[in-house]
Amino acid sequence: MLLRRFEAYGFKSFADKVELEFGAGVTAIVGPNGSGKSNISDAIRWVLGEQNIRNLRGAKTEDIIFAGSSERRPLNVAEVSLIFDNSDNRIPLDYSEVIVTRRVYRSGDSEYMINKTACRLKDIHDMLGDIGLGRESMAVISQSKVDEVLNSRPEDRRLLFEDAAGITKYKQRKRDALRKLDDTESNLTRVADIMAEIG
Ligand code: ATP
Repeated sequence: MLLRRFEAYGFKSFADKVELEFGAGVTAIVGPNGSGKSNISDAIRWVLGEQNIRNLRGAKTEDIIFAGSSERRPLNVAEVSLIFDNSDNRIPLDYSEVIVTRRVYRSGDSEYMINKTACRLKDIHDMLGDIGLGRESMAVISQSKVDEVLNSRPEDRRLLFEDAAGITKYKQRKRDALRKLDDTESNLTRVADIMAEIG
């Protein structure tokens, strides 16, 4: 799934509309300290449905709206859109581009949109979960996560690799299946006991 474009307005330091185009391959964003590089990854996390403002280095929702500077007045709205290339139809929508948008107002009201049509957060989670961009996905890895991975025990690190490789969901399904087998086994024992009693 190719992320084609990123657009943000009013999000943290982006007082003017920012548009970034991503081509195929690797894109690196460089800039001086404090110029807003991490704000881009915060914005991506946010539009993908992050609900915990602390994970976006803020304390309250207002912290993600442009707070003003010596020359600019604060803004009352923050909006971020991710534009995905959907020419392979991985997202089951009849559009070659899918635009996911999130907007929040200083009043606290917020809106989610898919291709400019209002939707629920759940619709975004469901759609993104299907293409591997769900809430727990490894699509965005923060600096603190890198430290955590480097400092973790090999057993815990293995879990991260399994998660990234998509094995975790199968392990969960295996656990569920084994539990059902266990339940069925107990039911069969019970049936056998009852049959012995009445037979
Ligand atoms: P570094 O290289 O040091 O990690 P960076 O390029 O990743 O820096 P960011 O952390 O993305 O920089 O940006 C920090 C800047 O964003 C700070 O100057 C901060 O004042 C500004 N900023 C954060 N939130 C807001 C906000 N709500 N309104 C205005 N500016 C904000």
